[in-house]
Amino acid sequence: MLSLPKHIEALCQKLEEKGFAAYAVGGCVRDLLCGKTPGDYDVTSSALPADVKGIFPHTADTGIAHGTVTVVLPEGNVEVTTFRKDGDYKDSRHPDGVTFVSHIEADLARRDFTVNAMAYSPLRGFVDPFGGKADLQHKILRTVGDPEVRFSEDALRILRLYRFSAQLAFEIEEKTEMMARKLSGTLCHVSRERIFAELSKLLHFASASDLERAEVIFRAVMPEVSFSADDFEKAASCTAMAGKWAHLCGRAAADILRHLRAPRKLIRSAEELATYRKGKHIVADVSALSYTTPHDFFAFLQDAAAENEWLSAKKKGFPMHVGELAVCGADMKALGFSGKEIGEALERLFMYVIENPANNKKDILMEVATWIYK
Ligand code: ATP
Ligand code: MG
Repeated sequence: MLSLPKHIEALCQKLEEKGFAAYAVGGCVRDLLCGKTPGDYDVTSSALPADVKGIFPHTADTGIAHGTVTVVLPEGNVEVTTFRKDGDYKDSRHPDGVTFVSHIEADLARRDFTVNAMAYSPLRGFVDPFGGKADLQHKILRTVGDPEVRFSEDALRILRLYRFSAQLAFEIEEKTEMMARKLSGTLCHVSRERIFAELSKLLHFASASDLERAEVIFRAVMPEVSFSADDFEKAASCTAMAGKWAHLCGRAAADILRHLRAPRKLIRSAEELATYRKGKHIVADVSALSYTTPHDFFAFLQDAAAENEWLSAKKKGFPMHVGELAVCGADMKALGFSGKEIGEALERLFMYVIENPANNKKDILMEVATWIYK
């Protein structure tokens, strides 16, 4: 017995009352069996999209062509997908169409891994034709059917394999891993956005050994980078996403992220971190950051002494950036500085104040600025 949320049970019940089979399926069943709280619940049913739309008053056409209707409930949206099998795969990624089928087993057969190919209904019990429960118990990822066929159909599954291995802390069955490695070159068929999304999830969950194992996909996706055990270690232990990318890809991080169409802020921050060179003082280094928060910067740096130094300066109320100096641009102008000199003078005063925090006073700084000017 699995305990489904009341609204999922009620949704399945309603479909059953109208004569259709309905099950919770995929990731939610896997997570419940592991004792985890599922992020969302997917339902699979013999009802056709038009049936689902007729039964529930509030729905959205999410992917009618693929059999998916979103049922809008007060508790949240639930995707209901008609039992289906996929047509032939044309380009290592997309099936040339889908066919609705009448049995749940055929629907489960199209799914990627045995642990993702289980369904459960309070009325009908478990459906587990591929040994998903046993693999879950043994913490093993294995494709449904021949891995060579399944990865050739859809290369995204190769990325999902390594991502789930990190996310669930599962081993990969030998032949499944062998074929994933063999076919890693076909990852070029996966869209850049999907590659970025999967690698982000992988990085979020991965330990250093997960990253080492996934090196084969990193090599396929970013052949220009050379990876080391040390990079993997640092990328795994860094708690900031930009820092993970910076450790993993080094100076190539920004170009790779740009290519993968990552968000701008992440690209810029990863670039800032990957090109970081230690300056004279940690407070100045932090103040020079444009895209990275101090929190993410220290997560990247993993230098407790530097972080403590910065924190204690902050706690004491010392100026943390040029804007907190007791003088401003207008003061510099009054002293005779102009154009670029104004910013440069303020920068130098800031360095002076970092070294002499007690001297952040207007009269002192005006005097120091005069020396600079002379
Ligand atoms: P999570 O949501 O925790 O990432 P999930 O298993 O729910 O994991 P989804 O991407 O939400 O993953 O997909 C839902 C289900 O659809 C999967 O459990 C799997 O059965 C199936 N699935 C998703 N993507 C594929 C794919 N590329 N090939 C085959 N089956 C897939
Ligand atoms: Mg899911």
